Amino acid sequence: MTELKTEEAKRLENAGYEIVGKHSAVEVCHYTKSSLLGKSGCYKKKFYGIQSHQCVQMTPAASWCDQKCKHCWRANEKFQGMTMDNETDEPEEIIEGSIKGQLRKLTGFGGNPNVLKDKLEEAQHPKHFAISLTGEPTLYNKMSGLISGLRNKNMSSFLVTHGQHPEALEKLRDENSLPTQLYISMEAPNKDLHKKLDVPLLKDAWERVERTFELLPTLKCRRIVRITLMKNLNDLDELIPQFAKLIKKGDIHFIEVKSYMHIGGARKRLDFENMLNHDEIKIYSEKLAKELGWKVINEAPSSRVCLIAKEDYKWRVMPFASKDIKEIEKAPFA
Ligand code: SF4
Repeated sequence: MTELKTEEAKRLENAGYEIVGKHSAVEVCHYTKSSLLGKSGCYKKKFYGIQSHQCVQMTPAASWCDQKCKHCWRANEKFQGMTMDNETDEPEEIIEGSIKGQLRKLTGFGGNPNVLKDKLEEAQHPKHFAISLTGEPTLYNKMSGLISGLRNKNMSSFLVTHGQHPEALEKLRDENSLPTQLYISMEAPNKDLHKKLDVPLLKDAWERVERTFELLPTLKCRRIVRITLMKNLNDLDELIPQFAKLIKKGDIHFIEVKSYMHIGGARKRLDFENMLNHDEIKIYSEKLAKELGWKVINEAPSSRVCLIAKEDYKWRVMPFASKDIKEIEKAPFA
C-alpha cells in the first residue's frame, strides 16, 4: 500500500505541508498569501488568469518521483520511492482533503488586519488546482478521476509532469480527463544533458520523454513546455535548435522560460551563480522565439519568466469569473 512513512510525513509537515490521506499533500503557496494581502499574485495570473488566492497547490505523490533533478527545490534525496502501487486514495478524498487542508491553513489569516476581506472570502471557494507541489503526479494511478472530479466542480487543473510516463497521459486522453493545462518540465533537449541535469532513475527515461513529445499533439488541452534555465548548464545557444525541434514535435501552445531559483534542496546541488537574471532570461527567450518564428508575448520580471507563443491567442487569459470550465477548456480548439 502506498503510504507516507511517519518520519517522512513529519519532515513534510515541518516543511509547511499539510498531509492529505495516505500519500497526498497541500501547501499554501507564497502567491496565495501575497494575493490575500493585495500584493502581486503569481505570474500565472498575468499569463493565464489564475486567481492566486483561489488556487490550491497540491500533489497526490508527496514523496514519490523517478527523477532526482539538480534544480529541484525539494529534498528529493529523501523521497520515499519511485513507484506508487494501485492501493491509493480515491480522487474525491484527495480533492476534499486538499481543499480542507488549504482552508485550515488559511484560518490564521482572518486575524491579520492587512488581509483583504473580500479576497479572504473568495479564498474560501477555491477555483484552481495546481497539481505540482512536489513528486511526480502521474505516478498516481487515479489521476483521471482527480481531474474529472475537479472539472465536475467547475475547477481548473494545471498538471505538471517531467514527461516520462506517456502511458499515463494517454490514459487521461482516452478517459476524457485531460487537465485544463498540461505542463512538461524540460531542462534538457537531449539524452546526455537530461541524464546530467534531471538524473532520471529509469533506464529508458529519454526514450519515454521522446514518446511523450510524439503523443502531445493528440492531447486536446493547453500544452505548455516549461524550461528551467541554469546558467552555464543549459542556457547554451547550441541547445536552442534542439529545444525548438522538440517543441515543434509536441505542437506546443506556450513555452515558459524561467530561471533556476537557488532555494530549498537545490542549494546543495547547484550554486547561486546558476541563477539567471530577468534580462538574461529575456535574451534567451528571444533567441528561442526567433528560432521557432514565434514571439515573446509576455513576461514577469519578478518571477524571472518569459512567455513565448506563435501568437498571443485571444483565449490565453481564461475568463474564470464568467464562464464554465468546460467552455474555457474548449476555446483553443473551437
Ligand atoms: S521531477 Fe519534480 S519532484 Fe521530481 S526531482 Fe524533478 S523537480 Fe523534483
